Amino acid sequence: MSEGPSPWACVAGWPIAHSRSPLIHGFWLRQLEIAGRYERVPVPPGDFATFAENIGRDGLLGANVTVPHKENAFAACDRLTAAAADLGAVNTLWRENGALWGDNTDVAGFLANLDEQAPAWQGDARSAVVLGAGGAARAVVKGLLMRGVAKIAIVNRSFERAERLAAHVGAAASAETPARLPTLLASADLLVNATSLGMKGQPPLAIDLKPLPDRAIVADLVYVPLETPLLAEARRRGLRSVEGLGMLLHQAAPAFERWFGVRPKITAELRALIAADIASGEPR
Ligand code: NDP
Repeated sequence: MSEGPSPWACVAGWPIAHSRSPLIHGFWLRQLEIAGRYERVPVPPGDFATFAENIGRDGLLGANVTVPHKENAFAACDRLTAAAADLGAVNTLWRENGALWGDNTDVAGFLANLDEQAPAWQGDARSAVVLGAGGAARAVVKGLLMRGVAKIAIVNRSFERAERLAAHVGAAASAETPARLPTLLASADLLVNATSLGMKGQPPLAIDLKPLPDRAIVADLVYVPLETPLLAEARRRGLRSVEGLGMLLHQAAPAFERWFGVRPKITAELRALIAADIASGEPR
């Protein structure tokens, strides 16, 4: 009797060589002794629909989706979770009874990381400033709303993009220009960087944290480097800080569970493995 193809999952993006997802899922597959694999699949712009059709075939259980395909993945799905439908972006795909399903685990990942690294933040954070209005910022804003943050200022270089996001959110959010930052920070309980600024190879995030109150929490979604200049500055100020690697790990766990049927653990060993890879400068 012939065995079926070995089960596998992948991350699809363009470019994709930088993705740490294979390291994370590979760690869990080994640790849980699951006979499966997780690969990087480069999918050029324009080829996403063809890629998506193959999910469910030849052992391909599902995929993570990254830049620039999260909206393409949304469009390719037959069914969506509530989070994906609300965000208009999908980062996790799988097939169920023939239908292509899409979820967005960035919201859950952002919240789980904040819960872990800044316990009790929710009770303290009534007013948040979110830098950025792209896909990641949308997930952050959605998460903060779900947890009852009453006031969310969205600050973005392209003001119209901030306005669109704020309009989608409703009364709790306002669109703001970077010039308003000193005033906004003075009453902020939580500052989140959801731009790509501060990431290796990108311009630095030029922001003065002095106006932030001492109670404020500073979170950065950027995780290369692990300690961004923003987080280093927050640490120097004695503020609670939340790094982006935890979000990456926490958004991966529900996807792994979806495909391989086991909820994997985010351990110190996994964190150290990925941190070492980031510090080495080149993804394995
Ligand atoms: P997008 O491309 O959708 O958005 C990028 C954002 O950064 C926009 O708000 C953009 O502003 C802003 N930006 C980019 N360059 C500049 C600049 N030179 N000056 C001012 N603003 C700038 O990306 P994503 O939302 O998908 O990702 C944003 C960051 O979050 C990335 O670094 C990504 O790696 C990280 N991320 C981390 C995750 C994690 O698990 N830790 C998960 C998802 C994302 P504008 O609208 O004006 O262009």
